[in-house]
Amino acid sequence: MPNILWMQTGACSGDTMSLLCADRPSLEQLDLQYGVKLLWQPSLTADRSFGDVLAAVLAGDEKLDVLCIEGSLMVGPGNTGMFDTWKGRPKIDIVRQLAPLATDVVAMGTCAAFGGVHAAGMNPTDCTGLQFHKDTPGGLLGTAWRARSGRPVINVSGCPAHPNTITKVLAMIAAGEEIALDQFNRPTAFFASLVHQGCTRNEYHEYDIEDSELGGRGCMFFSLGCRGPQTVAPCNTELWNGHSSKTRAGVPCFGCTSPSFPPDGDLFSTPRIGAIPKFLPLGVVRAKYMAYKNLARAAAPERVVNREMEP
Ligand code: SF4
Repeated sequence: MPNILWMQTGACSGDTMSLLCADRPSLEQLDLQYGVKLLWQPSLTADRSFGDVLAAVLAGDEKLDVLCIEGSLMVGPGNTGMFDTWKGRPKIDIVRQLAPLATDVVAMGTCAAFGGVHAAGMNPTDCTGLQFHKDTPGGLLGTAWRARSGRPVINVSGCPAHPNTITKVLAMIAAGEEIALDQFNRPTAFFASLVHQGCTRNEYHEYDIEDSELGGRGCMFFSLGCRGPQTVAPCNTELWNGHSSKTRAGVPCFGCTSPSFPPDGDLFSTPRIGAIPKFLPLGVVRAKYMAYKNLARAAAPERVVNREMEP
C-alpha cells in the first residue's frame, strides 16, 4: 500500500488544484483501486501536522514510498536556502533529507522539475529544479542522484501539471509498472506527442490561415505565440476536465511542459526571423517549411480562408 508525502516548496498550489481535478483516475480511485494513501498533503491533510510526519519518516518509524515535490527549490540567498523555510529550516535541506528515503521522487509541475516561473528572468532567489536547471541536468540533487527504486526524479512537468497525468503516474508507481522517461525525465507515456497533434485548429495551420488577434478561429502559430508544434504534452489528447484545452479555448499554448518555460518576452506574440517564426514545428527544416507554407496558402479552400469552420 504505497504512501505519498506531498511537500510544497516555491509553489502557487496550482498542481494541488490540478490534483483535485483529476478524474481518470481521481484521488478517490487512487485510494480505492491502487491503495495509495496520503501521508500528508498541505491542502488535504487535517489530522496530522507536517512536523509529525517529517519526524516519523526521518526516525524510520514511517516508510516513505513516494515523495512529491510541488514548487521550485529556492537555493538563495548565497546557497543558504533561507528564502523558503519551514520553522526556520531551509526547505531545500528537508528535501535533501527526505529524497534518499523515498522509493520514488516525483516533481509535480515545471517548477519542481526545471525551476519554472520562479527561475525565470534574473532569478533573484536562485530557484532551480530537483534534477534539472531548465534544460541542464543537475538542479538541487545533481545528475547522478537516484531514488531507492533506481529511478531519477520523475518529472511530471506542466504549469500546472495535467490532472490525469499526475494521478496516472502515481497509479503506475503504485502498480509497479515500468515508467519510460525521455531526455528530461518526463514519462513518455504522456510526453511523446505534441500539443499540436489533436488541436482542432490544425486545418487552419495546414493552410496557413492565421489569427493576429485572440478570439478568432484560425491558427495561433505565426502571430500569437502558439508553441503547440514544439511542445510535448497531453493537453489535446486528454482534455482538461474532460472538456477543453488552451488552444480549444482560443489561447495559444505557452509550452509550459518544456524545460525552458517560461520563455523570455511576450507569451502572446511569435518571435520571427523575417516573416517566418523563429521556432518552427519540431524537426522541420526552415527552407522546406517556407516553400510548403507558400504553396499551402495558395491551395487554401474558401471555407478555410473565410473561417467558416468551427475550430
Ligand atoms: S493553434 Fe497552435 S496547436 Fe493549434 S494548430 Fe495552431 S500551432 Fe498547432
